[in-house]
Amino acid sequence: MVTQNGNKNLKIRTAAYFAIIIALVVVLSAISSRIWGGKPEQLPIPKKFILEREMTVGGFGQANGLSGQALKEIFGLKTRSDLEKKLSEYGTDDQVASMVNKKLALASEHASKNWVKIPLKFGLWFIFLLIVFILQRKRKIVTGLRIGLLTASVLIFGVVMGSDPSPMGTVKDAIHLYGKARAVFPPRVIALSIFLAIVLIANKFICAWGCQAGTLQDLIFRTNQAGRQKAAIGRQVKLPFAVTNSIRVAFFCALTIAAFAWGFDIIDPIDPFKIFKPAQLGIIGASFVGMLLLASLFIYRPWCHLFCPFGLTGWLVEKISLVRIKVDYETCIACQKCAAACPSTVMGAILKRDKKTIPDCFACYACREACPTNSISFAAGKRTLPPAGHFKPLPSQEGRRASEGPVSDGDRTLP
Ligand code: SF4
Ligand code: SF4
Repeated sequence: MVTQNGNKNLKIRTAAYFAIIIALVVVLSAISSRIWGGKPEQLPIPKKFILEREMTVGGFGQANGLSGQALKEIFGLKTRSDLEKKLSEYGTDDQVASMVNKKLALASEHASKNWVKIPLKFGLWFIFLLIVFILQRKRKIVTGLRIGLLTASVLIFGVVMGSDPSPMGTVKDAIHLYGKARAVFPPRVIALSIFLAIVLIANKFICAWGCQAGTLQDLIFRTNQAGRQKAAIGRQVKLPFAVTNSIRVAFFCALTIAAFAWGFDIIDPIDPFKIFKPAQLGIIGASFVGMLLLASLFIYRPWCHLFCPFGLTGWLVEKISLVRIKVDYETCIACQKCAAACPSTVMGAILKRDKKTIPDCFACYACREACPTNSISFAAGKRTLPPAGHFKPLPSQEGRRASEGPVSDGDRTLP
């Protein structure tokens, strides 16, 4: 039994952990981003060009401050005399403007990337995820190691390797670039394909263990879990998936509309990944990210569930993942400890035979850790349905839906 004093100490310790995590992430990331050079993720490109039909290519370059190299790439120039070509040879004013916009946007993307860091980060992702996968195969991922792995992931992929690239960035930047300049940046397509391939193979494994903002929120949520007791500060709640997913879909639509209609990136001012590049986090961004991380103490991965475009895309792809969380109903004793341990509503939905609206599973293995009969696996193949009548409400759950999952120690007790 936890005394009042013990409770108070627990609250103080949790609050201190929270403050230390944020302070360390911000300070160390500021240092690391200075070392990497701190390039902005996208370089500014002019919105409007000075463009007259009778201009030559060279004249157009001079009027808009474009270098010879830029003109060569945009207009495919072969010799110096090509600078005398008329713009009208390349199409109408609109066509020329669109071509220049597109090529400049791609050149800006290319110039803003750190081409040493990106392959290095993907290499580290590969090694780290492989280690986590092997550990989970050996069923070694339990509370302590989970926190250790989450901390390592935040440090490696966020603090040291920075905010870019990220699974979320690949989706949001692809939408923004196409909306703004009708351009597709091939390296981003490759990165997105790799992230989605990981989801296809192993559920949201990249989100669970590799995404810098996702693991930071996860780590904060876990620091507010005092072992198997209830939350140290306040109460951790599981928001209904219908609500969180509706907000996420609406946000995705708003993101797409703003990109196509105004070339505006609505995530940019509030981007939580910028915590790993704090110099670029303005007052609005800092306030939003501060609130988001505070909310992470009480809600599991609020950004992932409410706003993240990769969260939504990954949730759709997850439906056909090769490897996923499965329950063996032959050995399952229907105690529902897994649903209680699951930080979101997904395990409850799996047990409820709800085939269509299984929420995001972040492959955290908390359910597997809680199962007293080892009936939960992370394995290939389809999920089987529980036999009808297998789950009866526990006495402690009367009046509460199983999918919400109990939140207190008492609820985790076998009937
Ligand atoms: S859903 Fe969460 S973990 Fe996945 S990419 Fe988005 S922020 Fe990262
Ligand atoms: S507890 Fe289990 S079902 Fe819930 S998110 Fe973690 S792995 Fe998925």
